[in-house]
Amino acid sequence: MREHAGGPRLGEELRDVSSTGKVRPWRRLKEQGLAVAAAFEGFDAERGEKMRRCASYAKYVWGDDAAGVVHKKLREANFCRCRMCPGCTTRLSHKRGFELSMCFEHVANKEDMVAVMMTLTPRSMHRAKTKRELKMMQAAWKKMREWPRFRRAMKYWYRGTEMTFPGETVHPHIHVMGLVPKKYFDKRSGLFLHQREIAEKWGRCLGADYTPVVDIRRMRKVVEAAKYVAKPSDYLTEGADGWVADAEILEILNTAVHSYHLSGWSKSFSKVRHELGFLKKGQSDDDEDVDLIGKGEGLPEGVTPRGYLKYSWFSTTALRGMHRLVEMEPYVEDEGRAAKKRRRKEKREREAEERRLHRDLLRATGRIAVADVSICGVFPSFYADQVAAQQAAMEENDYEPETAATSGCGPPGAAGGRRESG
Ligand SMILES: [Zn+2]
Repeated sequence: MREHAGGPRLGEELRDVSSTGKVRPWRRLKEQGLAVAAAFEGFDAERGEKMRRCASYAKYVWGDDAAGVVHKKLREANFCRCRMCPGCTTRLSHKRGFELSMCFEHVANKEDMVAVMMTLTPRSMHRAKTKRELKMMQAAWKKMREWPRFRRAMKYWYRGTEMTFPGETVHPHIHVMGLVPKKYFDKRSGLFLHQREIAEKWGRCLGADYTPVVDIRRMRKVVEAAKYVAKPSDYLTEGADGWVADAEILEILNTAVHSYHLSGWSKSFSKVRHELGFLKKGQSDDDEDVDLIGKGEGLPEGVTPRGYLKYSWFSTTALRGMHRLVEMEPYVEDEGRAAKKRRRKEKREREAEERRLHRDLLRATGRIAVADVSICGVFPSFYADQVAAQQAAMEENDYEPETAATSGCGPPGAAGGRRESG
Protein backbone atom coordinates (compact mmCIF):
# COMPACT_ATOMS: atom_id res chain seq x y z
CA MET A 1 0.00 0.00 0.00
CA ARG A 2 2.88 2.39 0.78
CA GLU A 3 5.61 3.41 -1.57
CA HIS A 4 8.47 5.81 -1.67
CA ALA A 5 8.06 9.29 -3.08
CA GLY A 6 8.47 10.02 -6.77
CA GLY A 7 5.05 9.01 -8.07
CA PRO A 8 4.12 6.17 -10.39
CA ARG A 9 5.66 5.99 -13.88
CA LEU A 10 4.28 4.20 -16.93
CA GLY A 11 5.99 0.92 -17.66
CA GLU A 12 7.22 0.34 -14.12
CA GLU A 13 6.73 -3.03 -12.47
CA LEU A 14 3.89 -3.45 -9.99
CA ARG A 15 4.97 -3.06 -6.41
CA ASP A 16 2.31 -3.66 -3.82
CA VAL A 17 3.19 -3.18 -0.17
CA SER A 18 0.70 -3.98 2.59
CA SER A 19 -0.02 -1.62 5.47
CA THR A 20 2.29 -3.73 7.63
CA GLY A 21 5.16 -3.25 5.17
CA LYS A 22 5.02 -6.68 3.56
CA VAL A 23 5.55 -6.84 -0.21
CA ARG A 24 2.77 -8.76 -1.90
CA PRO A 25 4.45 -11.18 -4.31
CA TRP A 26 2.27 -10.60 -7.38
CA ARG A 27 4.94 -11.73 -9.81
CA ARG A 28 5.82 -14.97 -8.02
CA LEU A 29 2.17 -15.91 -7.50
CA LYS A 30 1.35 -15.22 -11.14
CA GLU A 31 4.33 -17.27 -12.33
CA GLN A 32 3.37 -20.12 -10.00
CA GLY A 33 -0.17 -19.88 -11.35
CA LEU A 34 1.16 -20.29 -14.89
CA ALA A 35 2.97 -23.48 -13.83
CA VAL A 36 -0.13 -24.89 -12.12
CA ALA A 37 -2.22 -23.95 -15.17
CA ALA A 38 0.22 -25.82 -17.41
CA ALA A 39 -0.03 -28.93 -15.21
CA PHE A 40 -3.84 -28.72 -15.29
CA GLU A 41 -3.87 -29.05 -19.07
CA GLY A 42 -3.49 -32.81 -18.67
CA PHE A 43 -6.66 -33.38 -16.62
CA ASP A 44 -8.77 -30.20 -16.39
CA ALA A 45 -7.87 -27.92 -19.28
CA GLU A 46 -10.80 -25.57 -18.78
CA ARG A 47 -9.85 -24.73 -15.21
CA GLY A 48 -6.21 -24.52 -16.28
CA GLU A 49 -7.12 -21.88 -18.82
CA LYS A 50 -9.00 -19.88 -16.17
CA MET A 51 -5.94 -19.96 -13.93
CA ARG A 52 -3.64 -18.99 -16.77
CA ARG A 53 -5.61 -15.79 -17.22
CA CYS A 54 -5.85 -15.05 -13.49
CA ALA A 55 -4.54 -11.69 -12.29
CA SER A 56 -3.43 -10.56 -15.74
CA TYR A 57 -4.98 -7.21 -14.89
CA ALA A 58 -5.14 -5.09 -11.75
CA LYS A 59 -6.41 -1.60 -11.07
CA TYR A 60 -5.45 0.49 -8.05
CA VAL A 61 -6.53 3.81 -6.68
CA TRP A 62 -3.50 5.80 -5.58
CA GLY A 63 -2.73 8.96 -3.65
CA ASP A 64 0.01 10.60 -1.63
CA ASP A 65 0.27 11.87 1.92
CA ALA A 66 1.71 15.13 3.27
CA ALA A 67 5.24 13.74 3.03
CA GLY A 68 4.69 12.86 -0.65
CA VAL A 69 4.71 9.13 0.01
CA VAL A 70 2.61 7.18 -2.50
CA HIS A 71 -0.10 4.82 -1.20
CA LYS A 72 -2.28 2.56 -3.26
CA LYS A 73 -5.22 0.24 -2.80
CA LEU A 74 -6.44 -2.51 -5.09
CA ARG A 75 -9.79 -1.72 -6.71
CA GLU A 76 -10.22 -4.33 -9.44
CA ALA A 77 -8.51 -7.47 -10.66
CA ASN A 78 -9.50 -10.48 -12.72
CA PHE A 79 -8.96 -13.19 -10.13
CA CYS A 80 -9.95 -16.68 -11.29
CA ARG A 81 -10.99 -17.78 -7.76
CA CYS A 82 -9.96 -21.37 -8.54
CA ARG A 83 -9.11 -23.19 -5.35
CA MET A 84 -5.88 -24.56 -6.73
CA CYS A 85 -4.67 -21.19 -8.03
CA PRO A 86 -1.63 -20.17 -5.93
CA GLY A 87 -2.53 -16.47 -6.05
CA CYS A 88 -6.21 -16.87 -5.23
CA THR A 89 -5.64 -19.41 -2.44
CA THR A 90 -3.02 -17.15 -0.87
CA ARG A 91 -5.38 -14.20 -0.90
CA LEU A 92 -8.19 -16.38 0.38
CA SER A 93 -6.11 -17.74 3.24
CA HIS A 94 -5.19 -14.18 4.29
CA LYS A 95 -8.87 -13.23 4.25
CA ARG A 96 -9.83 -16.33 6.20
CA GLY A 97 -7.05 -15.71 8.68
CA PHE A 98 -8.26 -12.18 9.30
CA GLU A 99 -11.86 -13.36 9.66
CA LEU A 100 -10.84 -16.08 12.09
CA SER A 101 -8.77 -13.81 14.27
CA MET A 102 -11.53 -11.19 14.42
CA CYS A 103 -14.14 -13.81 15.38
CA PHE A 104 -11.84 -15.38 17.96
CA GLU A 105 -11.00 -12.05 19.49
CA HIS A 106 -14.65 -11.03 19.61
CA VAL A 107 -15.77 -14.16 21.45
CA ALA A 108 -12.70 -14.45 23.67
CA ASN A 109 -13.15 -10.91 24.96
CA LYS A 110 -16.85 -11.31 25.54
CA GLU A 111 -16.90 -14.74 27.10
CA ASP A 112 -13.44 -15.00 28.64
CA MET A 113 -12.15 -17.87 26.56
CA VAL A 114 -8.84 -19.12 25.24
CA ALA A 115 -7.91 -20.54 21.85
CA VAL A 116 -6.78 -24.12 21.35
CA MET A 117 -5.83 -26.12 18.31
CA MET A 118 -6.61 -29.78 17.92
CA THR A 119 -5.02 -31.84 15.16
CA LEU A 120 -6.56 -35.14 14.12
CA THR A 121 -4.76 -37.49 11.77
CA PRO A 122 -5.30 -40.95 10.35
CA ARG A 123 -2.36 -43.11 9.30
CA SER A 124 -0.61 -41.98 6.11
CA MET A 125 -1.32 -44.10 3.07
CA HIS A 126 -0.55 -44.35 -0.62
CA ARG A 127 -1.65 -41.37 -2.68
CA ALA A 128 -3.99 -43.48 -4.76
CA LYS A 129 -6.23 -43.85 -1.70
CA THR A 130 -6.68 -40.12 -1.09
CA LYS A 131 -10.27 -39.93 -2.21
CA ARG A 132 -11.42 -42.85 -0.08
CA GLU A 133 -9.50 -41.58 2.92
CA LEU A 134 -10.96 -38.09 2.72
CA LYS A 135 -14.46 -39.52 2.60
CA MET A 136 -13.72 -41.58 5.70
CA MET A 137 -12.22 -38.62 7.52
CA GLN A 138 -15.22 -36.49 6.68
CA ALA A 139 -17.56 -39.11 8.18
CA ALA A 140 -15.31 -39.53 11.22
CA TRP A 141 -15.27 -35.79 11.86
CA LYS A 142 -19.06 -35.73 11.78
CA LYS A 143 -19.12 -38.30 14.59
CA MET A 144 -16.36 -36.53 16.47
CA ARG A 145 -18.17 -33.20 16.60
CA GLU A 146 -21.30 -34.90 17.91
CA TRP A 147 -19.32 -36.30 20.84
CA PRO A 148 -21.09 -34.77 23.90
CA ARG A 149 -17.83 -34.07 25.73
CA PHE A 150 -16.39 -32.27 22.73
CA ARG A 151 -19.57 -30.24 22.29
CA ARG A 152 -19.53 -29.22 25.93
CA ALA A 153 -15.91 -28.11 25.87
CA MET A 154 -15.76 -26.46 22.46
CA LYS A 155 -18.77 -24.52 21.28
CA TYR A 156 -16.83 -22.34 18.86
CA TRP A 157 -14.61 -23.99 16.28
CA TYR A 158 -13.26 -23.72 12.78
CA ARG A 159 -12.16 -26.84 10.97
CA GLY A 160 -9.72 -27.03 8.08
CA THR A 161 -8.59 -30.16 6.24
CA GLU A 162 -5.02 -30.21 4.97
CA MET A 163 -2.84 -32.61 3.08
CA THR A 164 0.88 -33.15 2.80
CA PHE A 165 2.57 -35.48 0.34
CA PRO A 166 5.69 -37.11 1.78
CA GLY A 167 7.23 -39.48 -0.79
CA GLU A 168 4.56 -41.50 -2.55
CA THR A 169 2.13 -41.15 0.34
CA VAL A 170 -0.53 -38.69 1.32
CA HIS A 171 -0.98 -37.48 4.86
CA PRO A 172 -4.37 -35.82 5.33
CA HIS A 173 -5.20 -34.21 8.66
CA ILE A 174 -7.83 -32.04 10.26
CA HIS A 175 -7.04 -28.89 12.21
CA VAL A 176 -9.71 -27.74 14.60
CA MET A 177 -9.21 -24.26 15.97
CA GLY A 178 -11.55 -23.65 18.82
CA LEU A 179 -12.32 -21.57 21.87
CA VAL A 180 -12.68 -23.16 25.28
CA PRO A 181 -13.65 -21.52 28.58
CA LYS A 182 -10.67 -20.60 30.77
CA LYS A 183 -11.76 -23.15 33.35
CA TYR A 184 -11.29 -25.90 30.70
CA PHE A 185 -7.73 -26.40 31.91
CA ASP A 186 -8.90 -26.89 35.48
CA LYS A 187 -9.24 -30.66 35.80
CA ARG A 188 -12.09 -30.23 38.31
CA SER A 189 -14.28 -28.48 35.73
CA GLY A 190 -14.93 -31.79 33.98
CA LEU A 191 -14.36 -30.08 30.63
CA PHE A 192 -10.74 -31.03 30.07
CA LEU A 193 -10.10 -33.54 27.28
CA HIS A 194 -6.95 -35.53 27.73
CA GLN A 195 -4.93 -36.20 24.58
CA ARG A 196 -5.30 -39.95 25.18
CA GLU A 197 -9.10 -39.69 25.38
CA ILE A 198 -9.24 -37.68 22.17
CA ALA A 199 -7.02 -40.20 20.39
CA GLU A 200 -9.19 -43.12 21.51
CA LYS A 201 -12.40 -41.36 20.50
CA TRP A 202 -10.93 -40.30 17.15
CA GLY A 203 -9.79 -43.87 16.52
CA ARG A 204 -13.32 -45.17 17.15
CA CYS A 205 -14.77 -42.49 14.84
CA LEU A 206 -12.38 -43.58 12.11
CA GLY A 207 -13.19 -47.22 12.73
CA ALA A 208 -9.44 -47.80 12.96
CA ASP A 209 -7.70 -50.82 14.47
CA TYR A 210 -4.85 -48.59 15.68
CA THR A 211 -4.67 -45.53 17.93
CA PRO A 212 -4.28 -42.49 15.68
CA VAL A 213 -2.05 -39.53 16.43
CA VAL A 214 -3.81 -36.48 17.81
CA ASP A 215 -2.56 -33.29 19.34
CA ILE A 216 -4.19 -30.51 21.31
CA ARG A 217 -2.49 -27.35 22.47
CA ARG A 218 -3.11 -23.75 23.39
CA MET A 219 -2.79 -21.36 20.51
CA ARG A 220 -1.15 -17.95 20.80
CA LYS A 221 -1.69 -16.71 17.26
CA VAL A 222 -4.79 -17.58 15.31
CA VAL A 223 -3.93 -16.16 11.88
CA GLU A 224 -1.05 -18.54 11.32
CA ALA A 225 -3.33 -21.49 11.58
CA ALA A 226 -5.66 -20.66 8.70
CA LYS A 227 -3.63 -22.22 5.97
CA TYR A 228 -4.04 -24.00 2.69
CA VAL A 229 -5.42 -27.37 1.68
CA ALA A 230 -1.83 -28.10 0.76
CA LYS A 231 1.24 -25.90 0.95
CA PRO A 232 2.26 -24.72 -2.52
CA SER A 233 5.77 -25.94 -1.73
CA ASP A 234 4.34 -29.47 -1.77
CA TYR A 235 3.59 -29.29 -5.47
CA LEU A 236 5.73 -26.45 -6.81
CA THR A 237 9.48 -26.29 -7.37
CA GLU A 238 11.39 -23.49 -9.00
CA GLY A 239 13.59 -24.34 -11.97
CA ALA A 240 15.81 -22.17 -14.13
CA ASP A 241 13.02 -21.43 -16.62
CA GLY A 242 10.24 -20.95 -14.13
CA TRP A 243 8.11 -22.89 -11.69
CA VAL A 244 7.24 -26.54 -12.24
CA ALA A 245 4.09 -28.06 -10.76
CA ASP A 246 3.52 -31.70 -9.85
CA ALA A 247 0.55 -32.73 -11.98
CA GLU A 248 -0.13 -35.93 -10.00
CA ILE A 249 -0.53 -34.10 -6.68
CA LEU A 250 -2.57 -31.35 -8.31
CA GLU A 251 -4.97 -33.85 -9.79
CA ILE A 252 -5.52 -35.40 -6.34
CA LEU A 253 -6.04 -31.98 -4.77
CA ASN A 254 -8.32 -30.87 -7.57
CA THR A 255 -10.62 -33.83 -6.97
CA ALA A 256 -10.49 -33.26 -3.22
CA VAL A 257 -11.36 -29.57 -3.27
CA HIS A 258 -14.33 -30.15 -5.54
CA SER A 259 -15.74 -33.19 -3.76
CA TYR A 260 -15.40 -32.26 -0.10
CA HIS A 261 -16.02 -29.32 2.16
CA LEU A 262 -12.47 -28.79 3.28
CA SER A 263 -13.37 -26.24 5.90
CA GLY A 264 -16.27 -25.58 8.20
CA TRP A 265 -17.48 -23.46 11.10
CA SER A 266 -19.50 -24.41 14.14
CA LYS A 267 -23.03 -23.00 14.36
CA SER A 268 -22.13 -20.67 17.21
CA PHE A 269 -19.26 -19.26 15.20
CA SER A 270 -21.41 -18.70 12.14
CA LYS A 271 -23.63 -16.49 14.29
CA VAL A 272 -20.59 -14.43 15.25
CA ARG A 273 -19.58 -14.16 11.59
CA HIS A 274 -23.03 -12.74 10.81
CA GLU A 275 -22.75 -10.36 13.71
CA LEU A 276 -19.37 -9.07 12.53
CA GLY A 277 -20.48 -8.80 8.91
CA PHE A 278 -18.23 -11.52 7.48
CA LEU A 279 -21.18 -13.60 6.40
CA LYS A 280 -24.01 -11.68 4.78
CA LYS A 281 -27.61 -12.83 4.82
CA GLY A 282 -28.20 -15.32 2.04
CA GLN A 283 -24.51 -15.53 1.22
CA SER A 284 -23.20 -19.02 0.70
CA ASP A 285 -20.33 -20.21 2.83
CA ASP A 286 -18.31 -21.14 -0.23
CA ASP A 287 -14.77 -19.92 -0.61
CA GLU A 288 -15.78 -18.73 -4.06
CA ASP A 289 -17.94 -16.03 -2.49
CA VAL A 290 -15.19 -14.39 -0.45
CA ASP A 291 -14.29 -10.86 -1.51
CA LEU A 292 -10.63 -11.13 -2.49
CA ILE A 293 -10.21 -7.45 -3.25
CA GLY A 294 -11.42 -5.79 -0.06
CA LYS A 295 -14.03 -3.59 -1.72
CA GLY A 296 -14.98 -1.68 1.40
CA GLU A 297 -11.46 -0.49 2.16
CA GLY A 298 -10.09 2.79 0.86
CA LEU A 299 -6.84 4.71 1.04
CA PRO A 300 -5.51 5.40 4.54
CA GLU A 301 -6.54 8.58 6.29
CA GLY A 302 -4.55 11.68 5.39
CA VAL A 303 -3.87 10.45 1.85
CA THR A 304 -5.09 12.63 -1.02
CA PRO A 305 -6.37 10.47 -3.87
CA ARG A 306 -4.68 11.30 -7.19
CA GLY A 307 -5.87 8.72 -9.67
CA TYR A 308 -5.99 5.14 -10.86
CA LEU A 309 -3.22 2.86 -11.97
CA LYS A 310 -3.79 -0.04 -14.32
CA TYR A 311 -1.34 -2.88 -14.47
CA SER A 312 -1.14 -5.62 -17.03
CA TRP A 313 0.78 -8.87 -17.16
CA PHE A 314 3.53 -9.05 -19.77
CA SER A 315 4.97 -12.48 -20.37
CA THR A 316 8.60 -12.74 -21.29
CA THR A 317 8.44 -16.53 -21.62
CA ALA A 318 5.59 -19.01 -21.18
CA LEU A 319 6.29 -19.15 -17.42
CA ARG A 320 7.89 -15.77 -16.67
CA GLY A 321 6.89 -12.15 -16.87
CA MET A 322 5.83 -9.18 -14.78
CA HIS A 323 2.97 -6.77 -14.16
CA ARG A 324 3.67 -3.36 -15.66
CA LEU A 325 1.90 -0.05 -15.27
CA VAL A 326 0.14 0.50 -18.61
CA GLU A 327 -2.36 3.26 -17.93
CA MET A 328 -2.95 6.11 -15.50
CA GLU A 329 -6.28 7.85 -15.02
CA PRO A 330 -7.13 10.96 -12.99
CA TYR A 331 -9.18 10.50 -9.84
CA VAL A 332 -12.96 10.94 -9.92
CA GLU A 333 -14.93 11.74 -6.79
CA ASP A 334 -16.91 8.79 -5.56
CA GLU A 335 -19.86 8.57 -7.84
CA GLY A 336 -23.59 8.01 -7.52
CA ARG A 337 -25.62 5.32 -9.19
CA ALA A 338 -26.00 7.11 -12.51
CA ALA A 339 -22.26 7.59 -12.76
CA LYS A 340 -21.67 3.94 -11.92
CA LYS A 341 -24.05 2.92 -14.70
CA ARG A 342 -22.24 5.19 -17.11
CA ARG A 343 -18.90 3.74 -16.10
CA ARG A 344 -20.17 0.22 -16.66
CA LYS A 345 -21.35 1.20 -20.13
CA GLU A 346 -17.98 2.77 -20.83
CA LYS A 347 -16.30 -0.40 -19.68
CA ARG A 348 -18.38 -2.50 -22.06
CA GLU A 349 -17.54 -0.14 -24.91
CA ARG A 350 -13.88 -0.21 -23.96
CA GLU A 351 -13.86 -3.98 -23.99
CA ALA A 352 -15.51 -4.07 -27.40
CA GLU A 353 -12.92 -1.57 -28.59
CA GLU A 354 -10.20 -3.72 -27.10
CA ARG A 355 -11.46 -6.76 -28.99
CA ARG A 356 -11.62 -4.77 -32.22
CA LEU A 357 -8.08 -3.45 -31.74
CA HIS A 358 -6.95 -6.93 -30.86
CA ARG A 359 -8.26 -8.16 -34.21
CA ASP A 360 -6.64 -5.23 -36.03
CA LEU A 361 -3.34 -5.94 -34.36
CA LEU A 362 -3.52 -9.57 -35.45
CA ARG A 363 -4.30 -8.52 -39.00
CA ALA A 364 -1.54 -5.93 -39.04
CA THR A 365 1.20 -8.15 -37.69
CA GLY A 366 -0.14 -11.40 -39.05
CA ARG A 367 2.23 -13.39 -36.96
CA ILE A 368 1.35 -12.84 -33.31
CA ALA A 369 -0.39 -15.89 -31.95
CA VAL A 370 -3.70 -15.25 -30.21
CA ALA A 371 -2.45 -16.76 -26.96
CA ASP A 372 0.51 -14.40 -26.73
CA VAL A 373 -1.69 -11.38 -26.90
CA SER A 374 -4.61 -12.47 -24.79
CA ILE A 375 -2.44 -13.38 -21.81
CA CYS A 376 -1.43 -9.73 -21.45
CA GLY A 377 -4.96 -8.37 -21.26
CA VAL A 378 -3.48 -5.16 -22.65
CA PHE A 379 -5.41 -1.92 -22.82
CA PRO A 380 -6.79 -0.19 -25.89
CA SER A 381 -4.35 2.70 -25.88
CA PHE A 382 -1.49 0.27 -25.81
CA TYR A 383 -2.98 -1.66 -28.71
CA ALA A 384 -3.71 1.49 -30.60
CA ASP A 385 -0.07 2.58 -30.28
CA GLN A 386 1.12 -0.80 -31.45
CA VAL A 387 -1.22 -0.88 -34.39
CA ALA A 388 -0.33 2.68 -35.40
CA ALA A 389 3.39 1.99 -35.13
CA GLN A 390 3.02 -1.17 -37.14
CA GLN A 391 1.04 0.56 -39.82
CA ALA A 392 3.49 3.46 -39.98
CA ALA A 393 6.37 1.03 -40.36
CA MET A 394 4.53 -0.79 -43.09
CA GLU A 395 3.82 2.39 -45.03
CA GLU A 396 7.35 3.63 -44.68
CA ASN A 397 9.02 0.44 -45.85
CA ASP A 398 6.30 -0.64 -48.19
CA TYR A 399 6.25 -3.73 -46.04
CA GLU A 400 4.03 -6.64 -46.87
CA PRO A 401 3.16 -8.48 -43.65
CA GLU A 402 3.71 -12.18 -43.66
CA THR A 403 0.22 -13.63 -43.48
CA ALA A 404 -1.50 -16.93 -43.27
CA ALA A 405 -1.65 -16.95 -47.03
CA THR A 406 2.09 -16.44 -47.49
CA SER A 407 3.50 -18.28 -44.52
CA GLY A 408 0.84 -20.89 -44.04
CA CYS A 409 0.99 -20.58 -40.28
CA GLY A 410 -0.77 -17.36 -39.30
CA PRO A 411 -4.09 -17.16 -37.49
CA PRO A 412 -7.30 -17.41 -39.52
CA GLY A 413 -8.36 -14.11 -40.98
CA ALA A 414 -4.79 -12.82 -41.03
CA ALA A 415 -4.72 -12.93 -44.80
CA GLY A 416 -6.98 -9.89 -44.71
CA GLY A 417 -10.17 -11.53 -45.86
CA ARG A 418 -12.95 -13.42 -44.24
CA ARG A 419 -13.13 -17.06 -44.96
CA GLU A 420 -16.73 -17.03 -46.06
CA SER A 421 -16.08 -14.32 -48.64
CA GLY A 422 -12.92 -15.96 -49.95
ZN1 LIG B 1 -6.46 -17.18 -9.48
